[in-house]
Amino acid sequence: MEVKAFPNGIFGATTYLIYDKKTLEGAIIDCTSSTDEIENIIKTKKINLKYILITHGHFDHVYCVSKLKTKFPDAQVLMHKLDMPLLGQVETQCNMAGVDTIKVPCIDGLIDEESKNLKLADKELKIIHTKGHSKGGVCYLIENKLFSGDTLFKDSIGRCDLFGGDFKEIEKSIKEKLFKLDEGITVYPGHGEKTTIGYEKKYNPYFGSNIS
Ligand SMILES: [Zn+2]
Repeated sequence: MEVKAFPNGIFGATTYLIYDKKTLEGAIIDCTSSTDEIENIIKTKKINLKYILITHGHFDHVYCVSKLKTKFPDAQVLMHKLDMPLLGQVETQCNMAGVDTIKVPCIDGLIDEESKNLKLADKELKIIHTKGHSKGGVCYLIENKLFSGDTLFKDSIGRCDLFGGDFKEIEKSIKEKLFKLDEGITVYPGHGEKTTIGYEKKYNPYFGSNIS
């Protein structure tokens, strides 16, 4: 699975495009920035965009989802049901951040950990519900790649003081779910550089050697 990062989205959020080189089936994870470059790559490489996967309902991660969906109407927009209320507050979120309000994206499918049969190029797409940054925050795992949204960053974790955040919950999600994954898994966060599960277990200042 190829991964292409577009790191300069609104508020420094990252959009990811993943696709299988053979089948050309692909997905977008969050859509945070201008869609022109992404659109070009999808068209040039003839990628069949199957999903637009939302990690959580904060405005910076869904900022350009509606725009992208109009360009690729067959792509299914998926999000966890518990973040639906956040989408209703997108205008408030944008006002608070001082940015132009966006069109609230339409969700084609609600997902949770029980969602089965989500596949990209015959590879299982696993949903890991990691509440804490928001109630319905999820990570997407495919092969050895984890798209962690604003749950886990390199050397940090998502903030818990906004719209559905809870420190105890994020701590639990990371310790009991993400840190149980294979240490070699690469983590592609919603902001900043990529990392690995093994590195974060060892060096993340919120956990470090406290992990048992
Ligand atoms: Zn967020």
